[in-house]
Amino acid sequence: MLKRSERVYKNPVKAYIVLPCYNEEAVIEETCRQLLDVFKEMKDGGLISAASRIVFVDDGSGDRTWELIAGLEETHQEVCGIKLAHNVGHQNALFGGLMTVKDECDCAISIDADLQDDIHVIPDMIRKFRDENCEIVYGVRQERKTDTFFKRTTALGFYKLMKLMGVNMVYNHADYRLMGRRALAGLAEFEERNLFLRGMVPMIGYKSDNVYYNRNERFAGESKYPLKKMLSFAFDGITSFSVNLIRVISTVGVISCIIAVIMAIYSLVEKALGHTGAGWTSVMCSIWFIGGLQLLGIGLIGEYIGKMYKEVKRRPRYIVEEFIGDR
Ligand code: UDP
Ligand code: MG
Repeated sequence: MLKRSERVYKNPVKAYIVLPCYNEEAVIEETCRQLLDVFKEMKDGGLISAASRIVFVDDGSGDRTWELIAGLEETHQEVCGIKLAHNVGHQNALFGGLMTVKDECDCAISIDADLQDDIHVIPDMIRKFRDENCEIVYGVRQERKTDTFFKRTTALGFYKLMKLMGVNMVYNHADYRLMGRRALAGLAEFEERNLFLRGMVPMIGYKSDNVYYNRNERFAGESKYPLKKMLSFAFDGITSFSVNLIRVISTVGVISCIIAVIMAIYSLVEKALGHTGAGWTSVMCSIWFIGGLQLLGIGLIGEYIGKMYKEVKRRPRYIVEEFIGDR
């Protein structure tokens, strides 16, 4: 039986860095070089063990990405590669990488292959994990100077919208984070197919903290998230996490019914005063009332569908953090 809050890892930490890569031939080698530098510093400083690894996940790239990864694996002991059978998208590729290594490491750090996120805060992340018992450490962007005005405002709007929809997300955090072994085991219990990791990870629980950094520009290659993909990602996030959109329908239904009552009174008064033509009153009353009823009905069905949606996701109902006492 483990003592209260006792860590399960050995000191120094066996850390794995997981990078999803899709058509990243332009950046892979430089990325690897920079990561190996940081690795060396951390190893020399006794922070991470020699068994730590850099894991490139090739998300079905059509270019030389996998060849390059295989070449790096041959020349560097620290480098591993996972090749996915076909392109499954950033979130699935990252999840696949994390799930593949979750039983091998003490903690896994996920980061994009283009190193837009500052790798020099990785030691801070690991220290928070090792010394402060944080099971999840979020990389949070301090400022968005290097992003275009458009990306900055749309991103801000996105976080605001998500909050409005009741999704608990870490502000200005993308998928750059450290997750300990226990958090990874927790994540593995989420059986849903529509992944939105930055919404799911905070649902796991455990002690967490943030590290702050400035986001750089992509040093080579181009973004795999054009506007269309960004919008669909945002829509995915909302529909995967909240049934609030359905509630909007019910709300409009209720409003419409209230208007129906007002309209009924108004049109009856108009009729009594003789201001109306034949048929106007009955049409006015029924349009609003039937419209409202229909919307309410759709909203009600939506509530049931929302419940079913939650059921089929089979998310974990709880995750035990610790158990004390004799068993
Ligand atoms: N990526 C992936 N599969 C995809 C699209 C992207 O694995 O289908 C990876 C990509 O190689 C990169 C990360 O996801 O490591 C983030 O993509 P990108 O940098 O293009 O997005 P941005 O930073 O522009 O939002
Ligand atoms: Mg990027």
